Amino acid sequence: MNINVAESAGFCFGVNRAVNMVYSLINDNKKVCTFGPIIHNMEMVRELEEKGCVAVDSVEDVPQDATLVIRSHGVPLEIMNEINRSGIACEDATCPFVKKIHNIVNQESGEGRTVFVAGNKNHPEVQGIVSHCSGEIYTFNNNDELLEIANNILLEKNRPISVVAQTTFDTKEWKKCLKTVKKVYTNSKIFDTICNATSVRQNEAQQIAEKSDLMIVIGDRHSSNTGKLFDICKRKCDKTFLIETAQELDMNVLRNADSIGVTAGASTPARIIKEVLDKMSEETKSSVTNENEESFEALLEESLKNLNTNERVKGTVVSIDPTAVYVDVGRKQTGFIPADELSNDPTVNPEDVVKVGDELELLIMKTNDQEGTIMLSKRRVDAQKGWEELEEKAESKEVLTGKVTAVVKGGLSLVYNNVRIFVPASQATVSRNDSLEDLVGKEVQFRLIEVSQRGRRRQAVASIRSVLMDEINKKRDEFWQNVEIGKEYTGVVRSIENYGAFVDLGGVSGMIHISELSWQRVKHPSEVVKVGDEVKVYIKDINEETHKISLGYKDPDANPWEILKRDFPVDTVVKAKIVGITDFGAFANIIPGVDGLIHISQIANKRIDKPSDILKVGEEVEAKITAIDFEKKRVSLSMRALLPQEEAKKEDKEEVVASVEPEETKAEEAPAEETTAE
Ligand code: SF4
Repeated sequence: MNINVAESAGFCFGVNRAVNMVYSLINDNKKVCTFGPIIHNMEMVRELEEKGCVAVDSVEDVPQDATLVIRSHGVPLEIMNEINRSGIACEDATCPFVKKIHNIVNQESGEGRTVFVAGNKNHPEVQGIVSHCSGEIYTFNNNDELLEIANNILLEKNRPISVVAQTTFDTKEWKKCLKTVKKVYTNSKIFDTICNATSVRQNEAQQIAEKSDLMIVIGDRHSSNTGKLFDICKRKCDKTFLIETAQELDMNVLRNADSIGVTAGASTPARIIKEVLDKMSEETKSSVTNENEESFEALLEESLKNLNTNERVKGTVVSIDPTAVYVDVGRKQTGFIPADELSNDPTVNPEDVVKVGDELELLIMKTNDQEGTIMLSKRRVDAQKGWEELEEKAESKEVLTGKVTAVVKGGLSLVYNNVRIFVPASQATVSRNDSLEDLVGKEVQFRLIEVSQRGRRRQAVASIRSVLMDEINKKRDEFWQNVEIGKEYTGVVRSIENYGAFVDLGGVSGMIHISELSWQRVKHPSEVVKVGDEVKVYIKDINEETHKISLGYKDPDANPWEILKRDFPVDTVVKAKIVGITDFGAFANIIPGVDGLIHISQIANKRIDKPSDILKVGEEVEAKITAIDFEKKRVSLSMRALLPQEEAKKEDKEEVVASVEPEETKAEEAPAEETTAE
């Protein structure tokens, strides 16, 4: 027994694309639903349901947080608008061939032409096509229905008419209808929109059926294209059977057939076809020739073998989705550019590279006659042009601008005019400590180091560092020409040591000593600045020989002794916080950077044994400034001066001057004054 399997059996390009879209969302753990069953195959629909993917009939039924997938034959415009208005996450898997028909009818009706659609008016694809039409439109399912329209609806003979067909319309019937249109209407435009995959599948099925004793058509009974396939085969082979799964295959009917033909609808999964073939070969003890089985398994790859590769064509962008750009190349097949063939920059979105209506020069990568598709590349054409330009610039040492796309082994990859250029790590940044990752996605200036070609292998190497060093050297020269003591600069803290912070002033580095960082005492520079901070500094000192620069950082306006002079004269009553207690008194912070001493005799209006009997660290007290020594930087405070006079009189009056010097120093000096007071 000879079993002949149609090469075109199974998923077409559009269905494959839609099913892949659903599986890819499921694999990303997304909640998925489809507008109607994703394909007309209950087996597959059940399989998807088990994975949580449900089919809905209206926008309202879309579950919360679900991504809605539009199936390959699309939805009417009103539904698409409703989806957009609802804000539902949506992935549009409408086949580009169907979208092409939407565009045609939209344009033709927009120009005032009456549109005729050959197709089943109840099929969602036809309903979608009709919805894109803004003027008069008629649908017919066969030549008889067309004749009825022509005879009963009295359209003038020279009425401008545009005719399209449902992608799965019967090719034989289409030819009949076209004859009628041409005969009846003198001003007609015909768009042959029957999908190539459909006509190839139908022709092949017919040819196989002609030579077979028995024909098996595998597919869902609700699938329009499977139904048509069955009708075509039945016309040529009486014993044609339609089955949905391997279980439906009645082996008794096969036994007397010498040659059996097998085909399948566009929505029949490869798995089901294989199960049918396995059952046939097992039970008949004959085998589907390995050749056939292999060719079926490898169908896609085989059919994508190069036919017109390396040919350049011009095309117009007709639609864009996240995975591909669809292009009209003026042939019956629809061209598509996979997203990774659009640009050498993997980070860009297709919408950022091309727009609908753009004219592109493209390279044919692969053609697939079964599916009627041409795979194209834009980036290869662009890269070729870019390379030619790069070769011209190789010797010039010109500074060019490109975009860093990735960190790669040993350096960076950047893209200039669609050509990938390698930047060794040593040539990517000024300092080894600078991050390469930070450059990814950024535009950078670079200079070519090497542009070479050995056979088909091309290599371009560049240096970003060379351009950066030029800038730094230029800034250095400018700096040394203009620098003077007292001049102010804005710099960036590059590193921090225990003794100070190093600041980049634009190619030249200076140091702020720790003592210069704050008016208050700090233990480590990191208390005041951190690496990357932008700081305002002034030149304190320059060593012309060593080119060492000392920087000042403290803001003179923030000098606390100046603030004290201006805002806190003697006799001012202040709220001060106790920051330290000794036997001879307590230190209290008046403003940041200035502490005053409240001598033991000035704490209360009676004699006390020790300051800690009355005060504790952290407490806020009210005191009067009784004396300031700006030279020695000492402030005396008195709480007693604010107490009632009669009681205060009983105590000795004493003025004690305090200091903001380190506590050890205060401790040494203050007792002497306390002794004087007593
Ligand atoms: S049959 Fe053609 S038009 Fe329809 S989904 Fe498949 S590839 Fe697209």
